[in-house]
Amino acid sequence: MMKAMCLLGQSNVQLLDIPRPKLLKDTDVVGKVLRATICGSDLHIIDGFFNDQSTSDEEEAKSKTAKTGSIGGKTGFALGHEGVIEITEVGSSVHNFKVGDVCVVSCISCCGECHYCKRNQQSHCARSEGSTPGVLGIEMNGLQSEYCRIPYADHSLYKCPKGIPLDVCLLLSDVLPTSYELGVRGRVQEGDTVAIVGMGPIGLGALLSLKPFKPSQIIAIDTNESRLKVAQSLGATTIINPQKQTNVAEIIHELTGNQGDEVKPGVDLAIECVGFPTTFDTCQDIIAPYGKIAVVGVPGKPFNLKMDELWISNFDLSAGLVSGNSIGELMEKIVSGSLDPSPLITHHFKLSEIEKAYDTFRRSVDTGAIKVSITPDGVEDH
Ligand SMILES: [Zn+2]
Ligand SMILES: [Zn+2]
Repeated sequence: MMKAMCLLGQSNVQLLDIPRPKLLKDTDVVGKVLRATICGSDLHIIDGFFNDQSTSDEEEAKSKTAKTGSIGGKTGFALGHEGVIEITEVGSSVHNFKVGDVCVVSCISCCGECHYCKRNQQSHCARSEGSTPGVLGIEMNGLQSEYCRIPYADHSLYKCPKGIPLDVCLLLSDVLPTSYELGVRGRVQEGDTVAIVGMGPIGLGALLSLKPFKPSQIIAIDTNESRLKVAQSLGATTIINPQKQTNVAEIIHELTGNQGDEVKPGVDLAIECVGFPTTFDTCQDIIAPYGKIAVVGVPGKPFNLKMDELWISNFDLSAGLVSGNSIGELMEKIVSGSLDPSPLITHHFKLSEIEKAYDTFRRSVDTGAIKVSITPDGVEDH
C-alpha cells in the first residue's frame, strides 16, 4: 500500500492508503514519486468546476456535482499531474528509460504514434486512457502519491538533467510548458510589447519564458499586490493593479503609444492567464494592430468576443490545452541558464502534510504561495 491524495467527491479529498500501482501495459513504467505539486486545475477538479458546464442551470449543475467532483464525475483516484519520479519498474516495450532514471513527468501522457501525436498535437492523443486527454490525476491515479504508473512512458517522460534541482524540474511538468506553448511560443519577437493578465503561476511562467525573446515591455496586470511585486522582481517593466488603476487600457495605450509616429498604441501580445470574461475583455481592449491574444487561463464561462471591433485590427486569437512538446526545449534553456524558474517554488511540504499544502496554495493571496513543492515522506532532498 502507499499514501495518495484521493478525490472522493466534490470538495472531498483525503490522504488515503491505496494499493501501489503495477505495470498494466508493456508501454508503462512505474516510478517512485520524488516531487509533486498542486495546480490550479486540481482545485478546479475538487471544486467540480469542470463538471456539467453544459447546463446553464446553476442549481442543476450544483446538484449534479455535489456527489461527484472531477471531470466526468469519476472519483476515487489520486490527484496530481505534475511531478518528478525515479523509475522503479519498466514495461517490456519501453526503450528510452531504465530503472533508476529520474524523470520529469509530462502532464500529458501520449502514445507518440497516433494521428495527433505524429502532428505534434499530443494534447489530443487518440490513444489516451480515459475520456479526457491523457492527464494523470484526472480519471487515472496521479502524482500526489508515493508511486505512480506512467502510461506511454517513452513519449511522456524527460530525463532530469544533472545539476538541476528537482524543484526546478518539477516546473517542467505543466506550468512552464503550459505558459510557454499557449502564451509565448511562436507569438513574440524581439522588441515586442507584451501584457500578461493574471500573475499566478501561469502568468509568472509566461513572464519567465518570454524574457529570452527580449520584448521591449512586459506589462504585468493583477489585483494581487504581492504577485505584482514578484512579477516586477522577475522582470516586468510595468505593473498595473486594476483595482487601483481602473483605466488599464488607457495606461497601456500611453505606455505603448510613444514608439514613434508610425506605431499605433497597444500591445503586440496579450496573454490571458485567468480564464475570466473580464480578463479576456482587458486583452481585447489593449491589443495593437496585428496583435495576438493568447488565452492560457481555463475558461469556465463563455467569453464575449468583440469581433465587430477587432476584425480590422488583423488580430490573432488562440487558446487550448498544453501538449508538453516544449519540455525538452525548456529544459535546455534551464540548463543553459537563459531560463530560471526557481523563484516560482515558494513553499515545501511533505506528502503527509499535503492538506496543509492545499490550504496554503488555495489561500495564495494571503500566503504568497506560487507553487508548492511536495516531497513524499522518506524521500531525501536532492
Ligand atoms: Zn496543472
Ligand atoms: Zn497519440
